[in-house]
This record gives sequence, C-alpha cells and structure tokens, in this order.
Amino acid sequence: MRRKLLLGNWKMNKLASEAKEFALQSKALIQKAKENNVDMGVAPTYLSLQAVKENASKDMIVAAQNVHFKESGAFTGEVSIPMLKELGLDWVIIGHSERRTYDNETNEKCHLKMEALLANDMVPVYCVGETLAQFEAGQTKEVVKEQVEVGLRGLDLSKLSRLVVAYEPVWSIGTGKNASTEIAQDVCKFIRDVMRELLGDVADEIRILYGGSVKPENIRAYLSCPDVDGALVGGASLKIESYEGLLNNIL
Ligand code: PEP
Repeated sequence: MRRKLLLGNWKMNKLASEAKEFALQSKALIQKAKENNVDMGVAPTYLSLQAVKENASKDMIVAAQNVHFKESGAFTGEVSIPMLKELGLDWVIIGHSERRTYDNETNEKCHLKMEALLANDMVPVYCVGETLAQFEAGQTKEVVKEQVEVGLRGLDLSKLSRLVVAYEPVWSIGTGKNASTEIAQDVCKFIRDVMRELLGDVADEIRILYGGSVKPENIRAYLSCPDVDGALVGGASLKIESYEGLLNNIL
C-alpha cells in the first residue's frame, strides 16, 4: 500500500524568516496529515532548509531542491549530500524541469545524483515530463521513457522502494494549464509499467506524483487516479491556507 504524499516546491521563493513562520504555522496540519496516513512536506531554498527543519514538526518532510553528486571538491556554488545530512535532511528533488531547462540537468546527471542519494539512504524525488512541443508532437511517452530509463537503470534495487517519481508535464508547470486526469493517470501508469520492466516488482512500491498547476480545487481528482500517489505542488504550496487546502481536500 503506497502512502499518499504531498510535497510543496517553493522554488526561489521565501526569505528564511518567512520559511520559519510557515514551518511554525504548519505544525498542526502536519499532525493531521500524519493521523490520516499522508506524508507532507516542502522543498525550501538551501538558505531556508535549516530554519524549516528546526521549526517544523519532526514529521514534516523537508527536501532540498537540488544536490551535487560528489561529496566535496571544487564545485563553486554547489551543495553536497553530507552537507544536507548534517542538517538532518533525507529528501532531494532531482531533475525538476526548471533545472533541466536553465541548469543543464541532463538525464545522466540525474542518474549520478540519484545513485549518490540512494547510497546515502536518502530519498530522491525524480521529476520527468515532456515540453509543450513534445506533447503536441505526440512524444510524451517516448520522452518520459528515456528519462526513466536513463535516470533509473542500474540503481541499487534494494533501495529503490524509497524512490519517488514526479510526472510533471512542463507545459502545465506554473501555467494554470492542467493536464487532464486522464493524461495524468495514463502517463503515471505508463511510468510504472516502464519501471516494472526495468526494475521488477519494486515498481509497485515506488510512489508516483503528478505535478503541474495542482490546487486545492483540483487535487482530489488527481489523487483519485489509481497510479497517482500524490502531488508535487509549486504555487499552491506557498501560502499556508492553500497548503492546508491541499490536504483538507484529499481527506
Ligand atoms: C512545480 O514547481 O513542480 C510545480 C508543479 O509548480 P506549479 O504547481 O506552480 O505548477
């Protein structure tokens, strides 16, 4: 049985002081999520990770938005896995489309990062999804299959049940243009089938999220899909009221 998961991606938003305030305000909500078997968390910027970790409920998932695959070295501007672990963090988003677009995050790089994360018993949230041009050209499954295969092939099978995959059609992120629930279910099921072929039965334990303009008003429909185990939410995770609405509307 896969537990439901709601993860907010704050992107480059919130000062550390604002992030701390949110963490404090979210305590009762995270307790409610726990009581209802929902895992819930946020991915703040690096500079706010410590403030959120120290002030949120211990049950809140606190994820980094990126990490380097090397432990240390001459990589100006980067942050390593041991640095995150020192803060008590276990979760990292990998391959978000904004990083793929602006920071040359390739499938191969994602693979190296996930390999390093799993070796350190951490949880990668691997984002995949097609651009608008690819969607319009009918290439969604081809693109997603390659992202899944290159990203996941050869990873340590014994640790893969902790992996989370997020299907985020790029044309739907931050645009208010939702993928229909039919598309979300169809592609999430396809991802599970590709993973089953590649990795075996562990595919049934891996949680798959939908992401792209998810809001309190539409989240229930996505989470009713059998292969959608939760949501990765950008804009609607920034205000405590709508973050709360996301949970309340799936209970
Ligand atoms: C995201 O940042 O991953 C995302 C899905 O954003 P939004 O919910 O704003 O579309």
